[in-house]
Amino acid sequence: MATTIRVTIWNEYRHERHNPKVAAVYPDGIHTTIARALETNGFQTRTATLDEPEHGLTKEVLEQTDVLIWWGHMAHKDVSDEIVERVHQRVLDGMGLIVLHSGHFSKIFKRLMGTTCDLKWRESNDHERIWVVAPGHPITEGLGEYIELEHEEMYGEHFDIPAPETLVFVSWFSGGEVFRSGCCYTRGRGKIFYFRPGHETIPTYHNSEVQRVISNAVRWAAPVQGAQRLFGNRPALEK
Ligand code: ZN
Repeated sequence: MATTIRVTIWNEYRHERHNPKVAAVYPDGIHTTIARALETNGFQTRTATLDEPEHGLTKEVLEQTDVLIWWGHMAHKDVSDEIVERVHQRVLDGMGLIVLHSGHFSKIFKRLMGTTCDLKWRESNDHERIWVVAPGHPITEGLGEYIELEHEEMYGEHFDIPAPETLVFVSWFSGGEVFRSGCCYTRGRGKIFYFRPGHETIPTYHNSEVQRVISNAVRWAAPVQGAQRLFGNRPALEK
């Protein structure tokens, strides 16, 4: 039997504490809602937030994390460069990373992508239909042709990211825009998945299909026991 995947859910956790509208949707924080859903699906979880020492991402915590989930929005700049470097190294060493919604502008995602990661947006309660464009991909397991979200913030193209290695979802919005909303990458030994929905005033992370995508993505991004990455000058293997 496979060992239990250890997931750390990181949340900036500022909106929920300062905006009653957000607190009404996520009384214990977005991280807690996601953690409960993942626990129900059999994962071992812990949470970490920005205002904890070292943002809750000590060396020990990251060493014991198979997959890190990242939600941030208003305080990307408050994330210390030292912690970003630490997370970056862990991803290159094989830790999975799932970046959610406004995490597109986080220091860690921009660093891993090497582009601005900018996009169009509109808070107008658009209707969103998230189309599966890679049927058969493990992240889509158990889904139908699309996920329907009655209301969400709109994110529109152009999304300034490198071309995804696999594009899993494309969103359509009732305002007319489209967006590459599920994007897979590898960096070093690490797998990265960007998943678009999850505006803080909307109960998207309570949606069972969204929770399913996140669970599937955790399984997909979990590290495998692969070869160590060795670099530099090496002696010949043959005489
Ligand atoms: Zn948002």
